[in-house]
Amino acid sequence: MGYPILPALKQAGRRVGSLDRTLIMLVVLLTSVFPVELFPNTPPPPKGIDGQYSARQGQVVLVKVPLDEEATDVKGSFLDRTIPFFRELRPGEPVGYLGLVGIDMQDAPGTYELAVTIKNGEQAIKRLSYHVLVTKEKFAVEHLKLPKDKVDLDDKTLARWKLEQDQVRKALADNSALRLWHSGFVEPVSGKRTGIFGSVRIMNGQPRNPHNGEDIGAPLGTEVAATNDGVVRLTVDHVFSGRGVFVDHGLGFYTMYFHLSEILVKDGDLVKAGQIIGKVGSTGRATGPHLHWGVKLNGARVNPYALLDLPFKDGPAPGLSGSDFHFSPESHRIKQ
Ligand SMILES: [Zn+2]
Repeated sequence: MGYPILPALKQAGRRVGSLDRTLIMLVVLLTSVFPVELFPNTPPPPKGIDGQYSARQGQVVLVKVPLDEEATDVKGSFLDRTIPFFRELRPGEPVGYLGLVGIDMQDAPGTYELAVTIKNGEQAIKRLSYHVLVTKEKFAVEHLKLPKDKVDLDDKTLARWKLEQDQVRKALADNSALRLWHSGFVEPVSGKRTGIFGSVRIMNGQPRNPHNGEDIGAPLGTEVAATNDGVVRLTVDHVFSGRGVFVDHGLGFYTMYFHLSEILVKDGDLVKAGQIIGKVGSTGRATGPHLHWGVKLNGARVNPYALLDLPFKDGPAPGLSGSDFHFSPESHRIKQ
């Protein structure tokens, strides 16, 4: 996935866009004719359920709520998370709202309700209920060898780490009420994925928290791009993450870029998709130069590569009409 996009490639992108659209429509038609064959593991929706989705741990589900009425607020509730929906306007298509539901890497497999409330002013005008089937992802186990002082923290470092955690929590507690991103998502660095999202980490023989992002190996000084439009919420120099940038994309959606050698933006800066925000380094707890790329979606830790699979390429989501409230291609797949 590259940038900048050359005009010829853009043209090709548009062609692929219309092909995508045809494929999505085909899938929608097929699912309405052969729902059982295509989703053999999905139980039929109980009465009172408006739709169902499925995704593996760490993936993102795109939920579309078709809505003709005026609404001032569309919000979903999923596990302990609030999912703000945003309006999607496409010429000639019915009005609808989209929500991105993040499945946390540690959400237990099972079926959960996504309850959506549509309000106009103070009054709830509609309530919808969806089922989301969370399936298990097979996470790898990684053994890492690090200098002893980077794993067994002394009291002073431990106290510093706790303060840093608080700082991040406070900075990320605010939900910007506006969706700041519009186009498709870009890979911040193209390189080899050296640390896989969700892997169970054994550091110097001790089990630690699972890896909550993807590590992309790249030479020191490689430029790091923002994955989408947003505002720089926080820049840090922390004990684990090293020099890091937190970009707020609005509606509770954040991306993180860690271990940078250099930060090229300041808190409060507006950034565009593909804009260079820093350079690859090995600051903080890192064994060599790489980018740690992380995502938080309304509190859920999701695989950043799931963003690249979302059907947002050129502007709004292609092929999403009012009758089509099906999900991203990635979350279609039900793995046993
Ligand atoms: Zn990492």
